[in-house]
Amino acid sequence: MKTALIAIGAVLGLLVLAGVAVRVPAVEDHLFETALARATGGPRVPLFDGDGLKVFFCGTGSPLPSKKRAQTCTAVFAGDRFFLVDAGTGSWENIQAAGIPGAKLGAIFLTHLHSDHIGDLSEANLGSWVGGRPGKLPVYGPDGVVGVVEGENAAFAADNVYRTLHHGEAIAPPDRAGMIPLPFNAAEPIVIYEQDGLKVTAFEVAHAPVSGASGFRFDYKGRSVVVSGDTAYSDNLVANAKGVDLLVHEAQANHMVAKMQAAAAGAGAANTAKIFADIPSYHATPEEAARAANEAGAGQLVLTHLTPAPDNEISRRIFMRGVAKVRSQNVKLAEDGLLVLLPEAGGADFVKL
Ligand SMILES: [Zn+2]
Ligand SMILES: [Zn+2]
Repeated sequence: MKTALIAIGAVLGLLVLAGVAVRVPAVEDHLFETALARATGGPRVPLFDGDGLKVFFCGTGSPLPSKKRAQTCTAVFAGDRFFLVDAGTGSWENIQAAGIPGAKLGAIFLTHLHSDHIGDLSEANLGSWVGGRPGKLPVYGPDGVVGVVEGENAAFAADNVYRTLHHGEAIAPPDRAGMIPLPFNAAEPIVIYEQDGLKVTAFEVAHAPVSGASGFRFDYKGRSVVVSGDTAYSDNLVANAKGVDLLVHEAQANHMVAKMQAAAAGAGAANTAKIFADIPSYHATPEEAARAANEAGAGQLVLTHLTPAPDNEISRRIFMRGVAKVRSQNVKLAEDGLLVLLPEAGGADFVKL
């Protein structure tokens, strides 16, 4: 008994000492410098080694709020460059937190122009520009992308001038400021980018009444990724995802949305209830995404743009209810910070950056 009391006393004493120690400026400085070294050490996995394709989930949420997920964003790494499919609000912070150098951002591909896909365009533009991007930032998108990009350029014109005044033309060169809109029409599948062995094909998906919503297929060194964008179950997606190594498909658990609609109606939130009643028609359920992956013969399926965001174990189980009956393996829920490696030699590895 006495020994136990002495041991407890010793532990408490150490805790008090530790509490005092972290208030000593030299100890505080050491902890800060250690954290800085970790934060500035760059990604812990080589991302630009050119070994096949890599996919980083920079945003896996939807317009419904989640403290754990940025709005939608998928980064694809090929060779010495990376590319963003959509840039939802909060996603550039995930790119920065992972230590990914903004200078290597080659282009942004927009699946469509809904707000949850374009909210961080200005952050991606600024971060890659002052990071050392070699030119203006190309932004590929459907009809309407010119207005979005020109509007963003106009909104941040004053900011661009200030950045150059702050940091000089070497860091913030005016001739590389801003984005260039590159509209495409994916009514028929169309190759919108082909450079250094990377081919990006856009194809139409089902997101009515949004016109021109598309998905993208990336092919590089024999490996392939399809990002669905926002879509209900789509035959055209299945056709364009044939044999793909990784299908990144949006998913909305309509059985959960139905309960959310009832709860909103019960609480007298009529507008919210109406929105929850509307959204099932233009998104795919987890089971539909699994069926699309099977029909396409996709090697791996990762679900993203998760509505509602399943941020704990119980909600994840509810979200995925019924999926195992359609596809029992090689299906996963995305989370912010997930990295999928598709090396040239084959296979797929999942790590957290
Ligand atoms: Zn969306
Ligand atoms: Zn959408």
